[in-house]
Amino acid sequence: FVVKRILKDTMANAMLVKDLAEVAKDTALLHGVQIRVHESPNSSEVVTYAPITLFPSPVPKSAFYQALAVQVHYNTLVDKISQDADFLQKALARYLRSSGLSLTWGSQLISLWFPHFPSIVLGLNRSDYMLDQKNEGCPTLKQIEINTFAASFAGLTSHTPHVHRHILKVAGCVEESQRILDNNSAAGLAEAIAKAWELYGSKRAIVMFLVEENQINIFDQRCIENELWKRNISTKRKRFRDVSKTGSLDPDRKLFVDGQEVAVVYFRNGYMPQNYQSEQDWQARLLMERSLAVKCPDIGTHLAGTKKVQQVLSQPGVLEKFFPEQPQVVEQIRSTFAGLYTLDMGPEGDKTIEMALRTPGLFVLKPQREGGGNNLYGAELQQVLQEVKGSEERMAYILMDKIHPTPVQNILLKRDAPLKISTCLCELGVFGTYVRKGREMVLNKCAGHLLRTKSSEHADGGVAAGVAVLDNPLLL
Ligand code: ADP
Ligand code: MG
Ligand code: MG
Repeated sequence: FVVKRILKDTMANAMLVKDLAEVAKDTALLHGVQIRVHESPNSSEVVTYAPITLFPSPVPKSAFYQALAVQVHYNTLVDKISQDADFLQKALARYLRSSGLSLTWGSQLISLWFPHFPSIVLGLNRSDYMLDQKNEGCPTLKQIEINTFAASFAGLTSHTPHVHRHILKVAGCVEESQRILDNNSAAGLAEAIAKAWELYGSKRAIVMFLVEENQINIFDQRCIENELWKRNISTKRKRFRDVSKTGSLDPDRKLFVDGQEVAVVYFRNGYMPQNYQSEQDWQARLLMERSLAVKCPDIGTHLAGTKKVQQVLSQPGVLEKFFPEQPQVVEQIRSTFAGLYTLDMGPEGDKTIEMALRTPGLFVLKPQREGGGNNLYGAELQQVLQEVKGSEERMAYILMDKIHPTPVQNILLKRDAPLKISTCLCELGVFGTYVRKGREMVLNKCAGHLLRTKSSEHADGGVAAGVAVLDNPLLL
């Protein structure tokens, strides 16, 4: 098919590949597909193109639309879980407490979480999938995880279609270039943020982006900020320490930071223990959590996105509890689950460990971490399991079937990396947005997609981890 043909033709001509790569980088820069450089993460004096594939990658149409269609149900599910104190407590208490490497991370989160339910809820999540090639010729959509906290690249992925359309044209594939889908996730996320802001109901109040210390991926966030400014909604970027220095609650629990009322806190930082550099940072999170401001995510929604919750959901009867009258919804969600296994103390957990030690190549061992590069495979998986199997520490992990997507050929454009054809694996993400006021869902949408592609020699790691690159699906 087309990408293969182009690759074959272009590979015959190394000069052509070099030219196309130059054109792709310049087109990315022209359209804002950019990141800051590691040497100066907090300045835009020197920037570079965001890592991207030279060509779009093939994705089967049916699986693609299946992922889009199930998204509104995942939104509903996350929202229901976030309000279910009992479920979260049961699923997570011991898991987070023994959540491994840092005992404090788990208990800090739990202590933040007192079941007080905010009246306006804003959810921006991204459900990620790989297409398992178990059935030859008919790959099945399997969820890798769902991110309910700081799911990124809605901004940049809104602009990558320009790059691949242009590259296909320059490569002589005009017809194919028209098949690259539009994707406006940034506007989709902004629409939901704007709705939450409007429901909060104060024209003067701002949307606060709670951002990282090192702001490499600022342009991705700027896309969403600018969509909000288009709607005349003011945004400000603040870090934890700004909030701890200048943040306060008034007697009505309205949040003020630096003298301005905050309607919405959009967290782009705070999902990893390392993001909290001091006790003051934790206090700042607590202040925001207790405030009237709409939190994206609130703590319940944060916890709903943990890998342990994903595993508990896969157990028989659990989805049914959340959708008691909707067997089709249960079926639609469940069909995207891969095998997930508990490591809790007890016979079931013992069985999981025995199975994983016997055939480590079939599984991925996941600690409760985000951001890529934390999972364990093969010999390392075995070693860690041997170490923790006798203690409660093992409950900080879940085990998951390893998914085997069909490899595709592509060229990964990364700064200072040599131009070569790589055997690649793709991961499809789907953005979901929702807003709830009290009991009423006022918005529940699928807000576009994200295709990320990495060389198959890496078992793990996202774009931020420097492994995967942005891509576009070419539907087959
Ligand atoms: P994170 O929250 O750190 O992104 P993920 O669960 O998404 O954690 O895992 C990180 C990466 O590891 C994924 O992007 C994917 O490349 C790989 N991975 C995770 N789970 C699986 C799996 N079950 N099968 C194959 N690869 C996986
Ligand atoms: Mg994640
Ligand atoms: Mg991930």
